[in-house]
Amino acid sequence: MDLRPLGSTGMRVSPLGLGTVKFGRNQQVRYPRPFDLPSDREIGDLLALALELGINLLDTAPAYGSSQQRLGRLLGAGRGDWIIVSKVGEVFEHGESRFDFGYAHTIASVEGSLRTLRTDYLDCVLIHSDGHDLRIFEYAGAVDALHELKRRGLIRAHGMSSKTVDGGLRTVAELDVVMATCNLDYNDELAVLEAAAQQSKGVLIKKGLMSGHIQGADGVERAFAHVFAQPGVSSMIVGTINPDHLRSNVATLRRVLSTPV
Ligand code: NAP
Repeated sequence: MDLRPLGSTGMRVSPLGLGTVKFGRNQQVRYPRPFDLPSDREIGDLLALALELGINLLDTAPAYGSSQQRLGRLLGAGRGDWIIVSKVGEVFEHGESRFDFGYAHTIASVEGSLRTLRTDYLDCVLIHSDGHDLRIFEYAGAVDALHELKRRGLIRAHGMSSKTVDGGLRTVAELDVVMATCNLDYNDELAVLEAAAQQSKGVLIKKGLMSGHIQGADGVERAFAHVFAQPGVSSMIVGTINPDHLRSNVATLRRVLSTPV
């Protein structure tokens, strides 16, 4: 897969990214079926397969249970092969989420992610919004902290995984990367993608396969075609722990991207 620019960050990412919620968390998630967490062996094999298929983008978060710990253990010397996106703001403990968008928490959280992921830099850190995107900007703690972390060289780019159009637009105006939702059933945030394209900001799409609530191979193909018909998409982050899905998603996306619209 040809890599695409992640906005103006200087980084280049595969159009399919690997989402890792299911590497570390199977409670309070909205997937169609319950699942067991994969073994280290299974995750290691999936990461090797992803690289072989041309995927260079991993999306994780402190709120994804043991996802960061497991990636840190398994990536080892291969860390440099990956663009790693992580997040701040949401903490998932004892089966519940809580949010902290303060300055000190943000700095400590990123420092914790660096230790957990066993690396000395993160490629991109997104604020994991609780839905009150603009309030997070007004409160400013997390945003100021991300600017400071970038200045210190601990993160290469910043952004927000936003949940509203206004929050997405503010992200595009002030930060490097926006993570927005776009799928066959939900297109409320298209204005955010357009603004990002105009301002050369990075765009990561979440929930493009409707968190697995998609029907058959045809549904998957239509979902990819829909997302990549939108302007400015850097990468669609698809979560999977199934190697057959990973292979077929890459094959489907290759087909979609080689078909003129
Ligand atoms: P998604 O990528 O739309 O869907 C993932 C689900 O689709 C998984 O249950 C997966 O199951 C299934 N799937 C994948 N390929 C498939 C295929 N070819 N056929 C049938 N089912 C398939 O949704 P998501 O996991 O909610 O979001 C993707 C990623 O975005 C997450 O992993 C996370 O990194 C990120 N995300 C971020 C936020 C945020 O607020 N920042 C929120 C949600 C998600 P299998 O494991 O069986 O393949």
